[in-house]
Amino acid sequence: MFYLKEIYSSIYKKFKEKNFSSPHIETELILTKSLNLTKEYIYTYPQILLSKRQIKYINKNLLYRLNHKPIAYIFKNKEFFGLNFYVDENVLIPRQETEFLVEEAINLIKTKNLYKISDIGTGSGNIIISVIKNLDLSCNKYKFYATDISNKVIDVAKKNAKYHNLNAKIKFLLTDKLKYFIDNNLKLDIILSNPPYVSEKEYKNLQQEIYYEPKLALVSYTGLEFYEHFAFYGKKVLSTNGHFVLEINSNLLNKIIFLFEKNKYEIVKVVNDYQNLPRVIIIKNSYGKVHNRRWNKT
Ligand code: GLN
Repeated sequence: MFYLKEIYSSIYKKFKEKNFSSPHIETELILTKSLNLTKEYIYTYPQILLSKRQIKYINKNLLYRLNHKPIAYIFKNKEFFGLNFYVDENVLIPRQETEFLVEEAINLIKTKNLYKISDIGTGSGNIIISVIKNLDLSCNKYKFYATDISNKVIDVAKKNAKYHNLNAKIKFLLTDKLKYFIDNNLKLDIILSNPPYVSEKEYKNLQQEIYYEPKLALVSYTGLEFYEHFAFYGKKVLSTNGHFVLEINSNLLNKIIFLFEKNKYEIVKVVNDYQNLPRVIIIKNSYGKVHNRRWNKT
């Protein structure tokens, strides 16, 4: 048996030795999540004794983390938009900046009366589930679709939908990009997506944690493939008043604007993230009526 404070110091030392940038935060996370305790509890009761079993579990998690496995994969859980999501290495870990996309989507759906809603490349299902949780479903007009190209990913999204009591509300589709909607001549009012937008070149220089995540969810060759597909097929799939709300690679903003304007869409808005980088773009299907309005930088 060991005191919590002894375990705390030994974990802290290991993170420090391995040059982790925030050893205190790392230690807190390992301890709070392994023991299911709050941060406050850990600092208030340093004298509690930990059992052999608890220490074994802590050490197992610590070892993963020292090898840079993301906390979300170690504990198979991530909070997004105030909701809990199950995650494993089949899916991307939901990012805080994607919450901007969800917020914009909810506003747009409510103010423009959009009802046929899809999330392309749903991953854990974080986007579509967070959107639905913030809509009034009593009108019975909504239809929700979530797509992905991998069965394993769809299983994770379904698991989360079930956890949030939404499994009967979402139609899960195993399909590539907009293929299902093109093939079935189905119109959508809003297409949401956080597509793989890291280019192969950029992928070489990322922090170690990222390499635990599925490359397919992060990378496309130039970072633009999905946007090119959306710009082209959106004309067929989107309704007259249809919109895209897409997360983007800030380095590619100008290329994306050019691509959609060239294809006769209207750029409605670009939203910056916490680092003040362009992160979300709202695009309207204008059917030729392009006003050449400049986007409002927010
Ligand atoms: N929709 C998920 C997310 O935003 C997964 C996106 C992806 O796999 N590219 O986190």
